[in-house]
Amino acid sequence: MHIVTLGKQHTIKNNWTVIAGPCSAEDRTQIIDIAKELSHLKVDVLRAGLWKPRTHIDSWQGVGEQGLEWMQEARKETGIAIATEVKDEKTLEATLRANLDILWIGSRNGQNYALLEAVGKMTSHTKIPIILKRNMGADLDDWLGAAEYIAKYNPNVILCERGIKGFPRETRNVLDLQIAKLAQYAGFPVIIDVSHAAGRRDLITPMALAVKAAGFNGLMVEVHQNPDSALSDSKQQINTSDFKILSDKLALVPNQI
Ligand code: PEP
Ligand code: MN
Repeated sequence: MHIVTLGKQHTIKNNWTVIAGPCSAEDRTQIIDIAKELSHLKVDVLRAGLWKPRTHIDSWQGVGEQGLEWMQEARKETGIAIATEVKDEKTLEATLRANLDILWIGSRNGQNYALLEAVGKMTSHTKIPIILKRNMGADLDDWLGAAEYIAKYNPNVILCERGIKGFPRETRNVLDLQIAKLAQYAGFPVIIDVSHAAGRRDLITPMALAVKAAGFNGLMVEVHQNPDSALSDSKQQINTSDFKILSDKLALVPNQI
């Protein structure tokens, strides 16, 4: 996929798209500054979460709706497309009002059929791209079936593999490129989120290079100005200089098989 601008709205085409940015939006300066840095580093889409799906209720839950304004400002200043996660119908409505470029459904909501259908219906006129992350326990049929709940109303669905639950303790999840490739054969563009699959920084570069070489449609990677102080997913985010090194390496890898 490639993000192109049609009038004021960004949209997506099939080939290689890089989506990068912090796990969470934390403050206005962070978002504006990282948008500036990443827009110079071959990043097509800035990602950041506003309503974080945390394992524990007492963990930090994200900045919420105020972050939408920071994102709009970042887009205005840099021209970069913006993606964020919608968690439920309320956050879906707020995000649509803010007219962002891409929405994503997180893994935990990957089979929340009521939300998926609502997203499809509420974007059927704009057809803005919707990234559907694979539920961490979904098989291929579950994942494609979930995609149909959106695609019935808005065909512009991009599937995102982000790792499934497995037995290894050394990684957060198991990156399942085989089922991701079968999902691509089924006709959807497929991108790979290497950060949530690995849960650790040292696997991001090798996995990202493998993803491009295997002919997927894009990459999602968490990038933060100072990963060690990130308010969520600190261990799996890389800093902007490491992202630049990754980006230079990716440029050398062909994306066709
Ligand atoms: C995220 O992208 O920050 C996120 C919460 O991802 P996932 O839904 O894949 O866990
Ligand atoms: Mn995250």
